[in-house]
Amino acid sequence: MPQLHRTPAPVAEPTAPTGRPAYQKFDVVARKSGIDGFGAFAAEAIPPHRKIGEIRGESISVSEARRRAAGKARIMIVEVSEKKAIDASQSSDPMRFTNHSCAPNARLQIRDGRVEFYAVQPIAVGEEITVNYGETHHEGTLACRCGAPGCIGWL
Ligand SMILES: [Zn+2]
Repeated sequence: MPQLHRTPAPVAEPTAPTGRPAYQKFDVVARKSGIDGFGAFAAEAIPPHRKIGEIRGESISVSEARRRAAGKARIMIVEVSEKKAIDASQSSDPMRFTNHSCAPNARLQIRDGRVEFYAVQPIAVGEEITVNYGETHHEGTLACRCGAPGCIGWL
């Protein structure tokens, strides 16, 4: 008597929703920004105080970072200590496109050599994610175009 074989029901694979790395907690995409160049935009709603993601990249010395940054208007280097910096130029992390705003909706946190981003208010789908860069290598010589009412005007 022939045996009946039933095709097993497909089992949902436990895959990450978008294949992003585990340290990128929310979906963020790089798009042209009204502020400057490309920006990082939320592709899903982000609640306040949640970690959004990180920038990872090449670990270099601060002196090498300053050499690489010299004369450039746009850089993707973050100093993570007095000696070390992360150059994310070759990284695929979308957070590396995060622009400065004088009225940001996120904040940058340097912890244990890591460059982390946290939401400070609810961020809607399609909203550009911004942080206050604080002190930058531009040392107040680059015009800020963030458009925030309290814009200090310079980076
Ligand atoms: Zn500004």
